[in-house]
Amino acid sequence: MPDTDIRKLDQATVERIAAGEVVERPASVVKELVENSLDADATRVDVAVENGGVDGVTVADDGAGMTEADVRAAVREHTTSKIRDIDDLEGGVGTLGFRGEALHTIGAVSRTTIRTKPRDPDDGPAEGTELVYQGGEVQSVEPVGRPAGTTIEVAELFFNTPARKKYLKTRATEFSHVNRVVTRYALANPDVAVSLTHDGREVFATTGQGDLPSAVLSVYGKEVARAMESVEAPDLDDGPLDAVGGLVSHPETTRSTREYVSTFVNGRYVTSKLVRDAVLSAYGGQLAGDRYPFVVLDLSVDPGQVDVNVHPRKMEVRFSDEAGVRRQVHAAVEDALLDAGLLRSSAPRG
Ligand code: ADP
Ligand code: MG
Repeated sequence: MPDTDIRKLDQATVERIAAGEVVERPASVVKELVENSLDADATRVDVAVENGGVDGVTVADDGAGMTEADVRAAVREHTTSKIRDIDDLEGGVGTLGFRGEALHTIGAVSRTTIRTKPRDPDDGPAEGTELVYQGGEVQSVEPVGRPAGTTIEVAELFFNTPARKKYLKTRATEFSHVNRVVTRYALANPDVAVSLTHDGREVFATTGQGDLPSAVLSVYGKEVARAMESVEAPDLDDGPLDAVGGLVSHPETTRSTREYVSTFVNGRYVTSKLVRDAVLSAYGGQLAGDRYPFVVLDLSVDPGQVDVNVHPRKMEVRFSDEAGVRRQVHAAVEDALLDAGLLRSSAPRG
């Protein structure tokens, strides 16, 4: 064999590198676990983190739960119950997850304890299962008494990847990332009661009542909630979007970061400069420089018109008809602001 310095990495090294791409910080763990709870049709999702998530992340839900066989399978590599093959993906996925890598990779760089019991009593014995998974290996599997649903506790994050651990930021910074993630899912799912607790203190809790204004009230507080106008364009027919709906704030109720501009496509949080710019342009220059409104906007679009699979963290989207999306979003937001008398329009109505 010719001499070469190029060699194949061992499996453990490959896995830890891969894990680093999915699990960057505590907020990435929170995102994956909350998505799993929502995919399991939970009606409540309780997120508790310690020390910004660095010392622990726990996500508890009342969703479908798992049998012992399910949970053993779930922590293996590339295992998912959500799609079967590439055809399912091409058809547009209805779930938040589909890559089948989150539980496996989180467990590769932490000590993860899963306690779960299926909601459907036909699915097995009356007791639940507790599985401990650490550094990529199943440590123990035991029966446990608990209600239906799933609780996943992630401790000792990055215990075996000290370089990654060193790059974690302060408690406040890590927590702000966690807060942002949980906030997005709470706003995208007003029909789910979502709570966030940090070091034992409740940060917010939505009621799960189902309406967006009450979710906004729980998350952002009274002052912001009062300054929101609803955007209602339920059946659009002159472009790629079927509907645009949500809430946008008055032009004087703003913040200096973009983080309160939350946009969703078919209920999935996305970052899209195109959509954001279309929203901001609808304010017609009434936003002070470098100020951003509070926005919670969901676009309904045929899954065939949008590619959500461009980014490994699944936040960016690409629309096939960008100009159409821009025009429809601009018009929907502008109408809402005009109806509320919040725009100095050149041709005032009424
Ligand atoms: P994916 O979400 O892409 O399918 P994950 O690794 O996140 O991959 O989860 C693997 C599988 O474990 C899921 O497909 C699902 O069947 C199961 N699972 C994970 N979390 C939960 C949960 N909270 N409730 C019920 N099932 C879950
Ligand atoms: Mg998942």
